[in-house]
Amino acid sequence: MLKRLLLLRGTELVALVLLASIPLVVNNSYALGLLTLLTIYGILLIGLDVTVGYLGQVNLAQAAFLGLGAYAAGLSVTVLGFGIPAALGVSMLIGLVMGALLAFPALRLEGPQFALATLSFSALCTTVLNEWESLTGGAQGLSLSRPAMLGHAMKASGFYWLCLVLLALVWMAMRNLLSSQWGRAFEALRDSPIATDAMGVGTFRHKVAGFALGSSLGGLAGGLYAFNFEYLQPQTFNYDMMVVLLLGVVLGGRKSLWGAFFGASLIVLLPNLLSSRLLFEIISGLGFLLAVVAGGRGLLKKTTQPFQAIAPVVAMGILVAGGFMVENTENWRKAIFALMLFSVVVGLPDGIMGFAAQYLARLFGIKSAALPAASMLDDVLPANTRDLGVLLELKNLKRYFGGVKAVDGVSISIQKGHVHGLIGPNGSGKSTVVNVISGLYAPTSGEVLLLGKPLPAGSLFSVARAGVSRTFQNLQLFGELSALDNVMLALKDAYRIPVLLVLLGFSRAEDRRAQAEALALLELAGLADQARVRAKDLTYGSQRFLEIARALARKPELLILDEPAAGLAHPDVAVLVEMIRTIKRRGITTILIEHHMDVVSKLCDQVTVVDGGQVIARGTPDEVNRDPQVIKAYLGVVPDEIIPA
Ligand code: ADP
Ligand code: MG
Repeated sequence: MLKRLLLLRGTELVALVLLASIPLVVNNSYALGLLTLLTIYGILLIGLDVTVGYLGQVNLAQAAFLGLGAYAAGLSVTVLGFGIPAALGVSMLIGLVMGALLAFPALRLEGPQFALATLSFSALCTTVLNEWESLTGGAQGLSLSRPAMLGHAMKASGFYWLCLVLLALVWMAMRNLLSSQWGRAFEALRDSPIATDAMGVGTFRHKVAGFALGSSLGGLAGGLYAFNFEYLQPQTFNYDMMVVLLLGVVLGGRKSLWGAFFGASLIVLLPNLLSSRLLFEIISGLGFLLAVVAGGRGLLKKTTQPFQAIAPVVAMGILVAGGFMVENTENWRKAIFALMLFSVVVGLPDGIMGFAAQYLARLFGIKSAALPAASMLDDVLPANTRDLGVLLELKNLKRYFGGVKAVDGVSISIQKGHVHGLIGPNGSGKSTVVNVISGLYAPTSGEVLLLGKPLPAGSLFSVARAGVSRTFQNLQLFGELSALDNVMLALKDAYRIPVLLVLLGFSRAEDRRAQAEALALLELAGLADQARVRAKDLTYGSQRFLEIARALARKPELLILDEPAAGLAHPDVAVLVEMIRTIKRRGITTILIEHHMDVVSKLCDQVTVVDGGQVIARGTPDEVNRDPQVIKAYLGVVPDEIIPA
């Protein structure tokens, strides 16, 4: 425990002490300038990593937020006469507000569209800063002088320490936040927005919050930037800077504070890298070696394609050779950035930190912290077998897709505590029925009543909050999250600590309780010993079970399982049947879409058969099994023809 603490936090402490003591030992204003920049870019990249690494969006606006924050601080001082703390507060606030405003419309967009929206925002910002001359001084630039702090003029070393303290605070706060439910939610919505909503964790609010947070750190870094240089020009915060920042995040390593720190070091050293041929050759030579090692390792382990291994080696080779050939590397900076970015994206998708982490872990024998003992299943899913009556009612439900009448007037009534089978041939509308119930689609017409009250139409999130939980026919796991985190994310009512206290680290106790509860559900799914395995690395069968465990974490009134046995090997089907029996004993009402009639017969109290979007039979498994209509729907022939009289 102590060893682990020292290994993980010790490195951070030692780094902090070292960084803090440098100005006492070395009296070199140039080095001090670089260190100050390092802390500023560190804060900036930690912010950018929230959107690029955690939310998984291509965010081209961080340079603009740096600029906005810088001008906000500059103008706070020159126009309003603010001191440093107030000015930095304004910078952060501007980042937060503008970030949220940009996020509202932009985050409805996906992938390239989002990137374009952030790009337009950047262009807009630099243009406004440039053209609003009466306020910003336009291309002439804005000069300011660093105000005194607590009555003392702040020397370069004092300002550096201020930046370092702020970096340390941001570091701690972000570590707390990103290891909490917030961090899980950020990553979950990157891997599957649909499942994030279906687990009652709002995709949109977390996207906006994440983006606003990342942007506010951009604003804070901007404020420090202004006080560092004491002179601002709009064109500083343009496309060049944007590319460099992205390079810093992906090269350092996404989803990692240390990665942001390494990325920041790289950015700080870039100008020197470009002006000194020796340094350029050393760094690009190291890059070349790294590409060879990483590529060779990937090929040996068969985790990379030949192209992925060879292309970065070639690109870095060109850099090394080019460094000797060109007159002035400065003129080639854009090409150099491009080659570096290309090499990293292709060859080291997890960045330097991601690559190094596996070696460091082995070197130091770092293991993940021990997990708490699992809670009792009875505490997590209290058995409820008392209630009787109708839980869910579908009344003449219709859902058309253009001309396709996927669901065409379905009425079903489901008793509390029952496992209700929904069967029918492929394309008969089963998934569409549950997609409408769970809010993935709004119905074309008809009613869905849970305990007599209409369920919200067409909102996965609201329906999940109303007590419905589901799995998906095509798995929707959070691939990059561990099995444990998948379940923890979905846990109902487990996270109550407000975000400001989370930043201060007060959510650990509730996270620990959530771990224990999630472990109980993993045990139920037979996955307790794979709690730390990333979902995408589990076997297919385990992934199916994990999705059920995650759905149970919602402690649902109604559980919907859409073909949980699809693609399962025979032994896994038996495990699944046992799992659903356990769920049934807890009294959880379940809709089970299933093809295997033997599974349906074993588990279901009632069965509804649909074909062509309409109900063709209902009753106990035995009754529908004998129904001529059902046999016809499944076999395409009337029973008389196959059953000899
Ligand atoms: P099942 O789950 O019973 O196999 P589905 O509910 O998935 O059937 O599909 C029923 C019909 O609705 C099919 O003809 C399918 O092509 C159509 N359908 C389902 N979802 C959509 C959609 N999002 N857009 C268009 N057609 C759809
Ligand atoms: Mg289906």
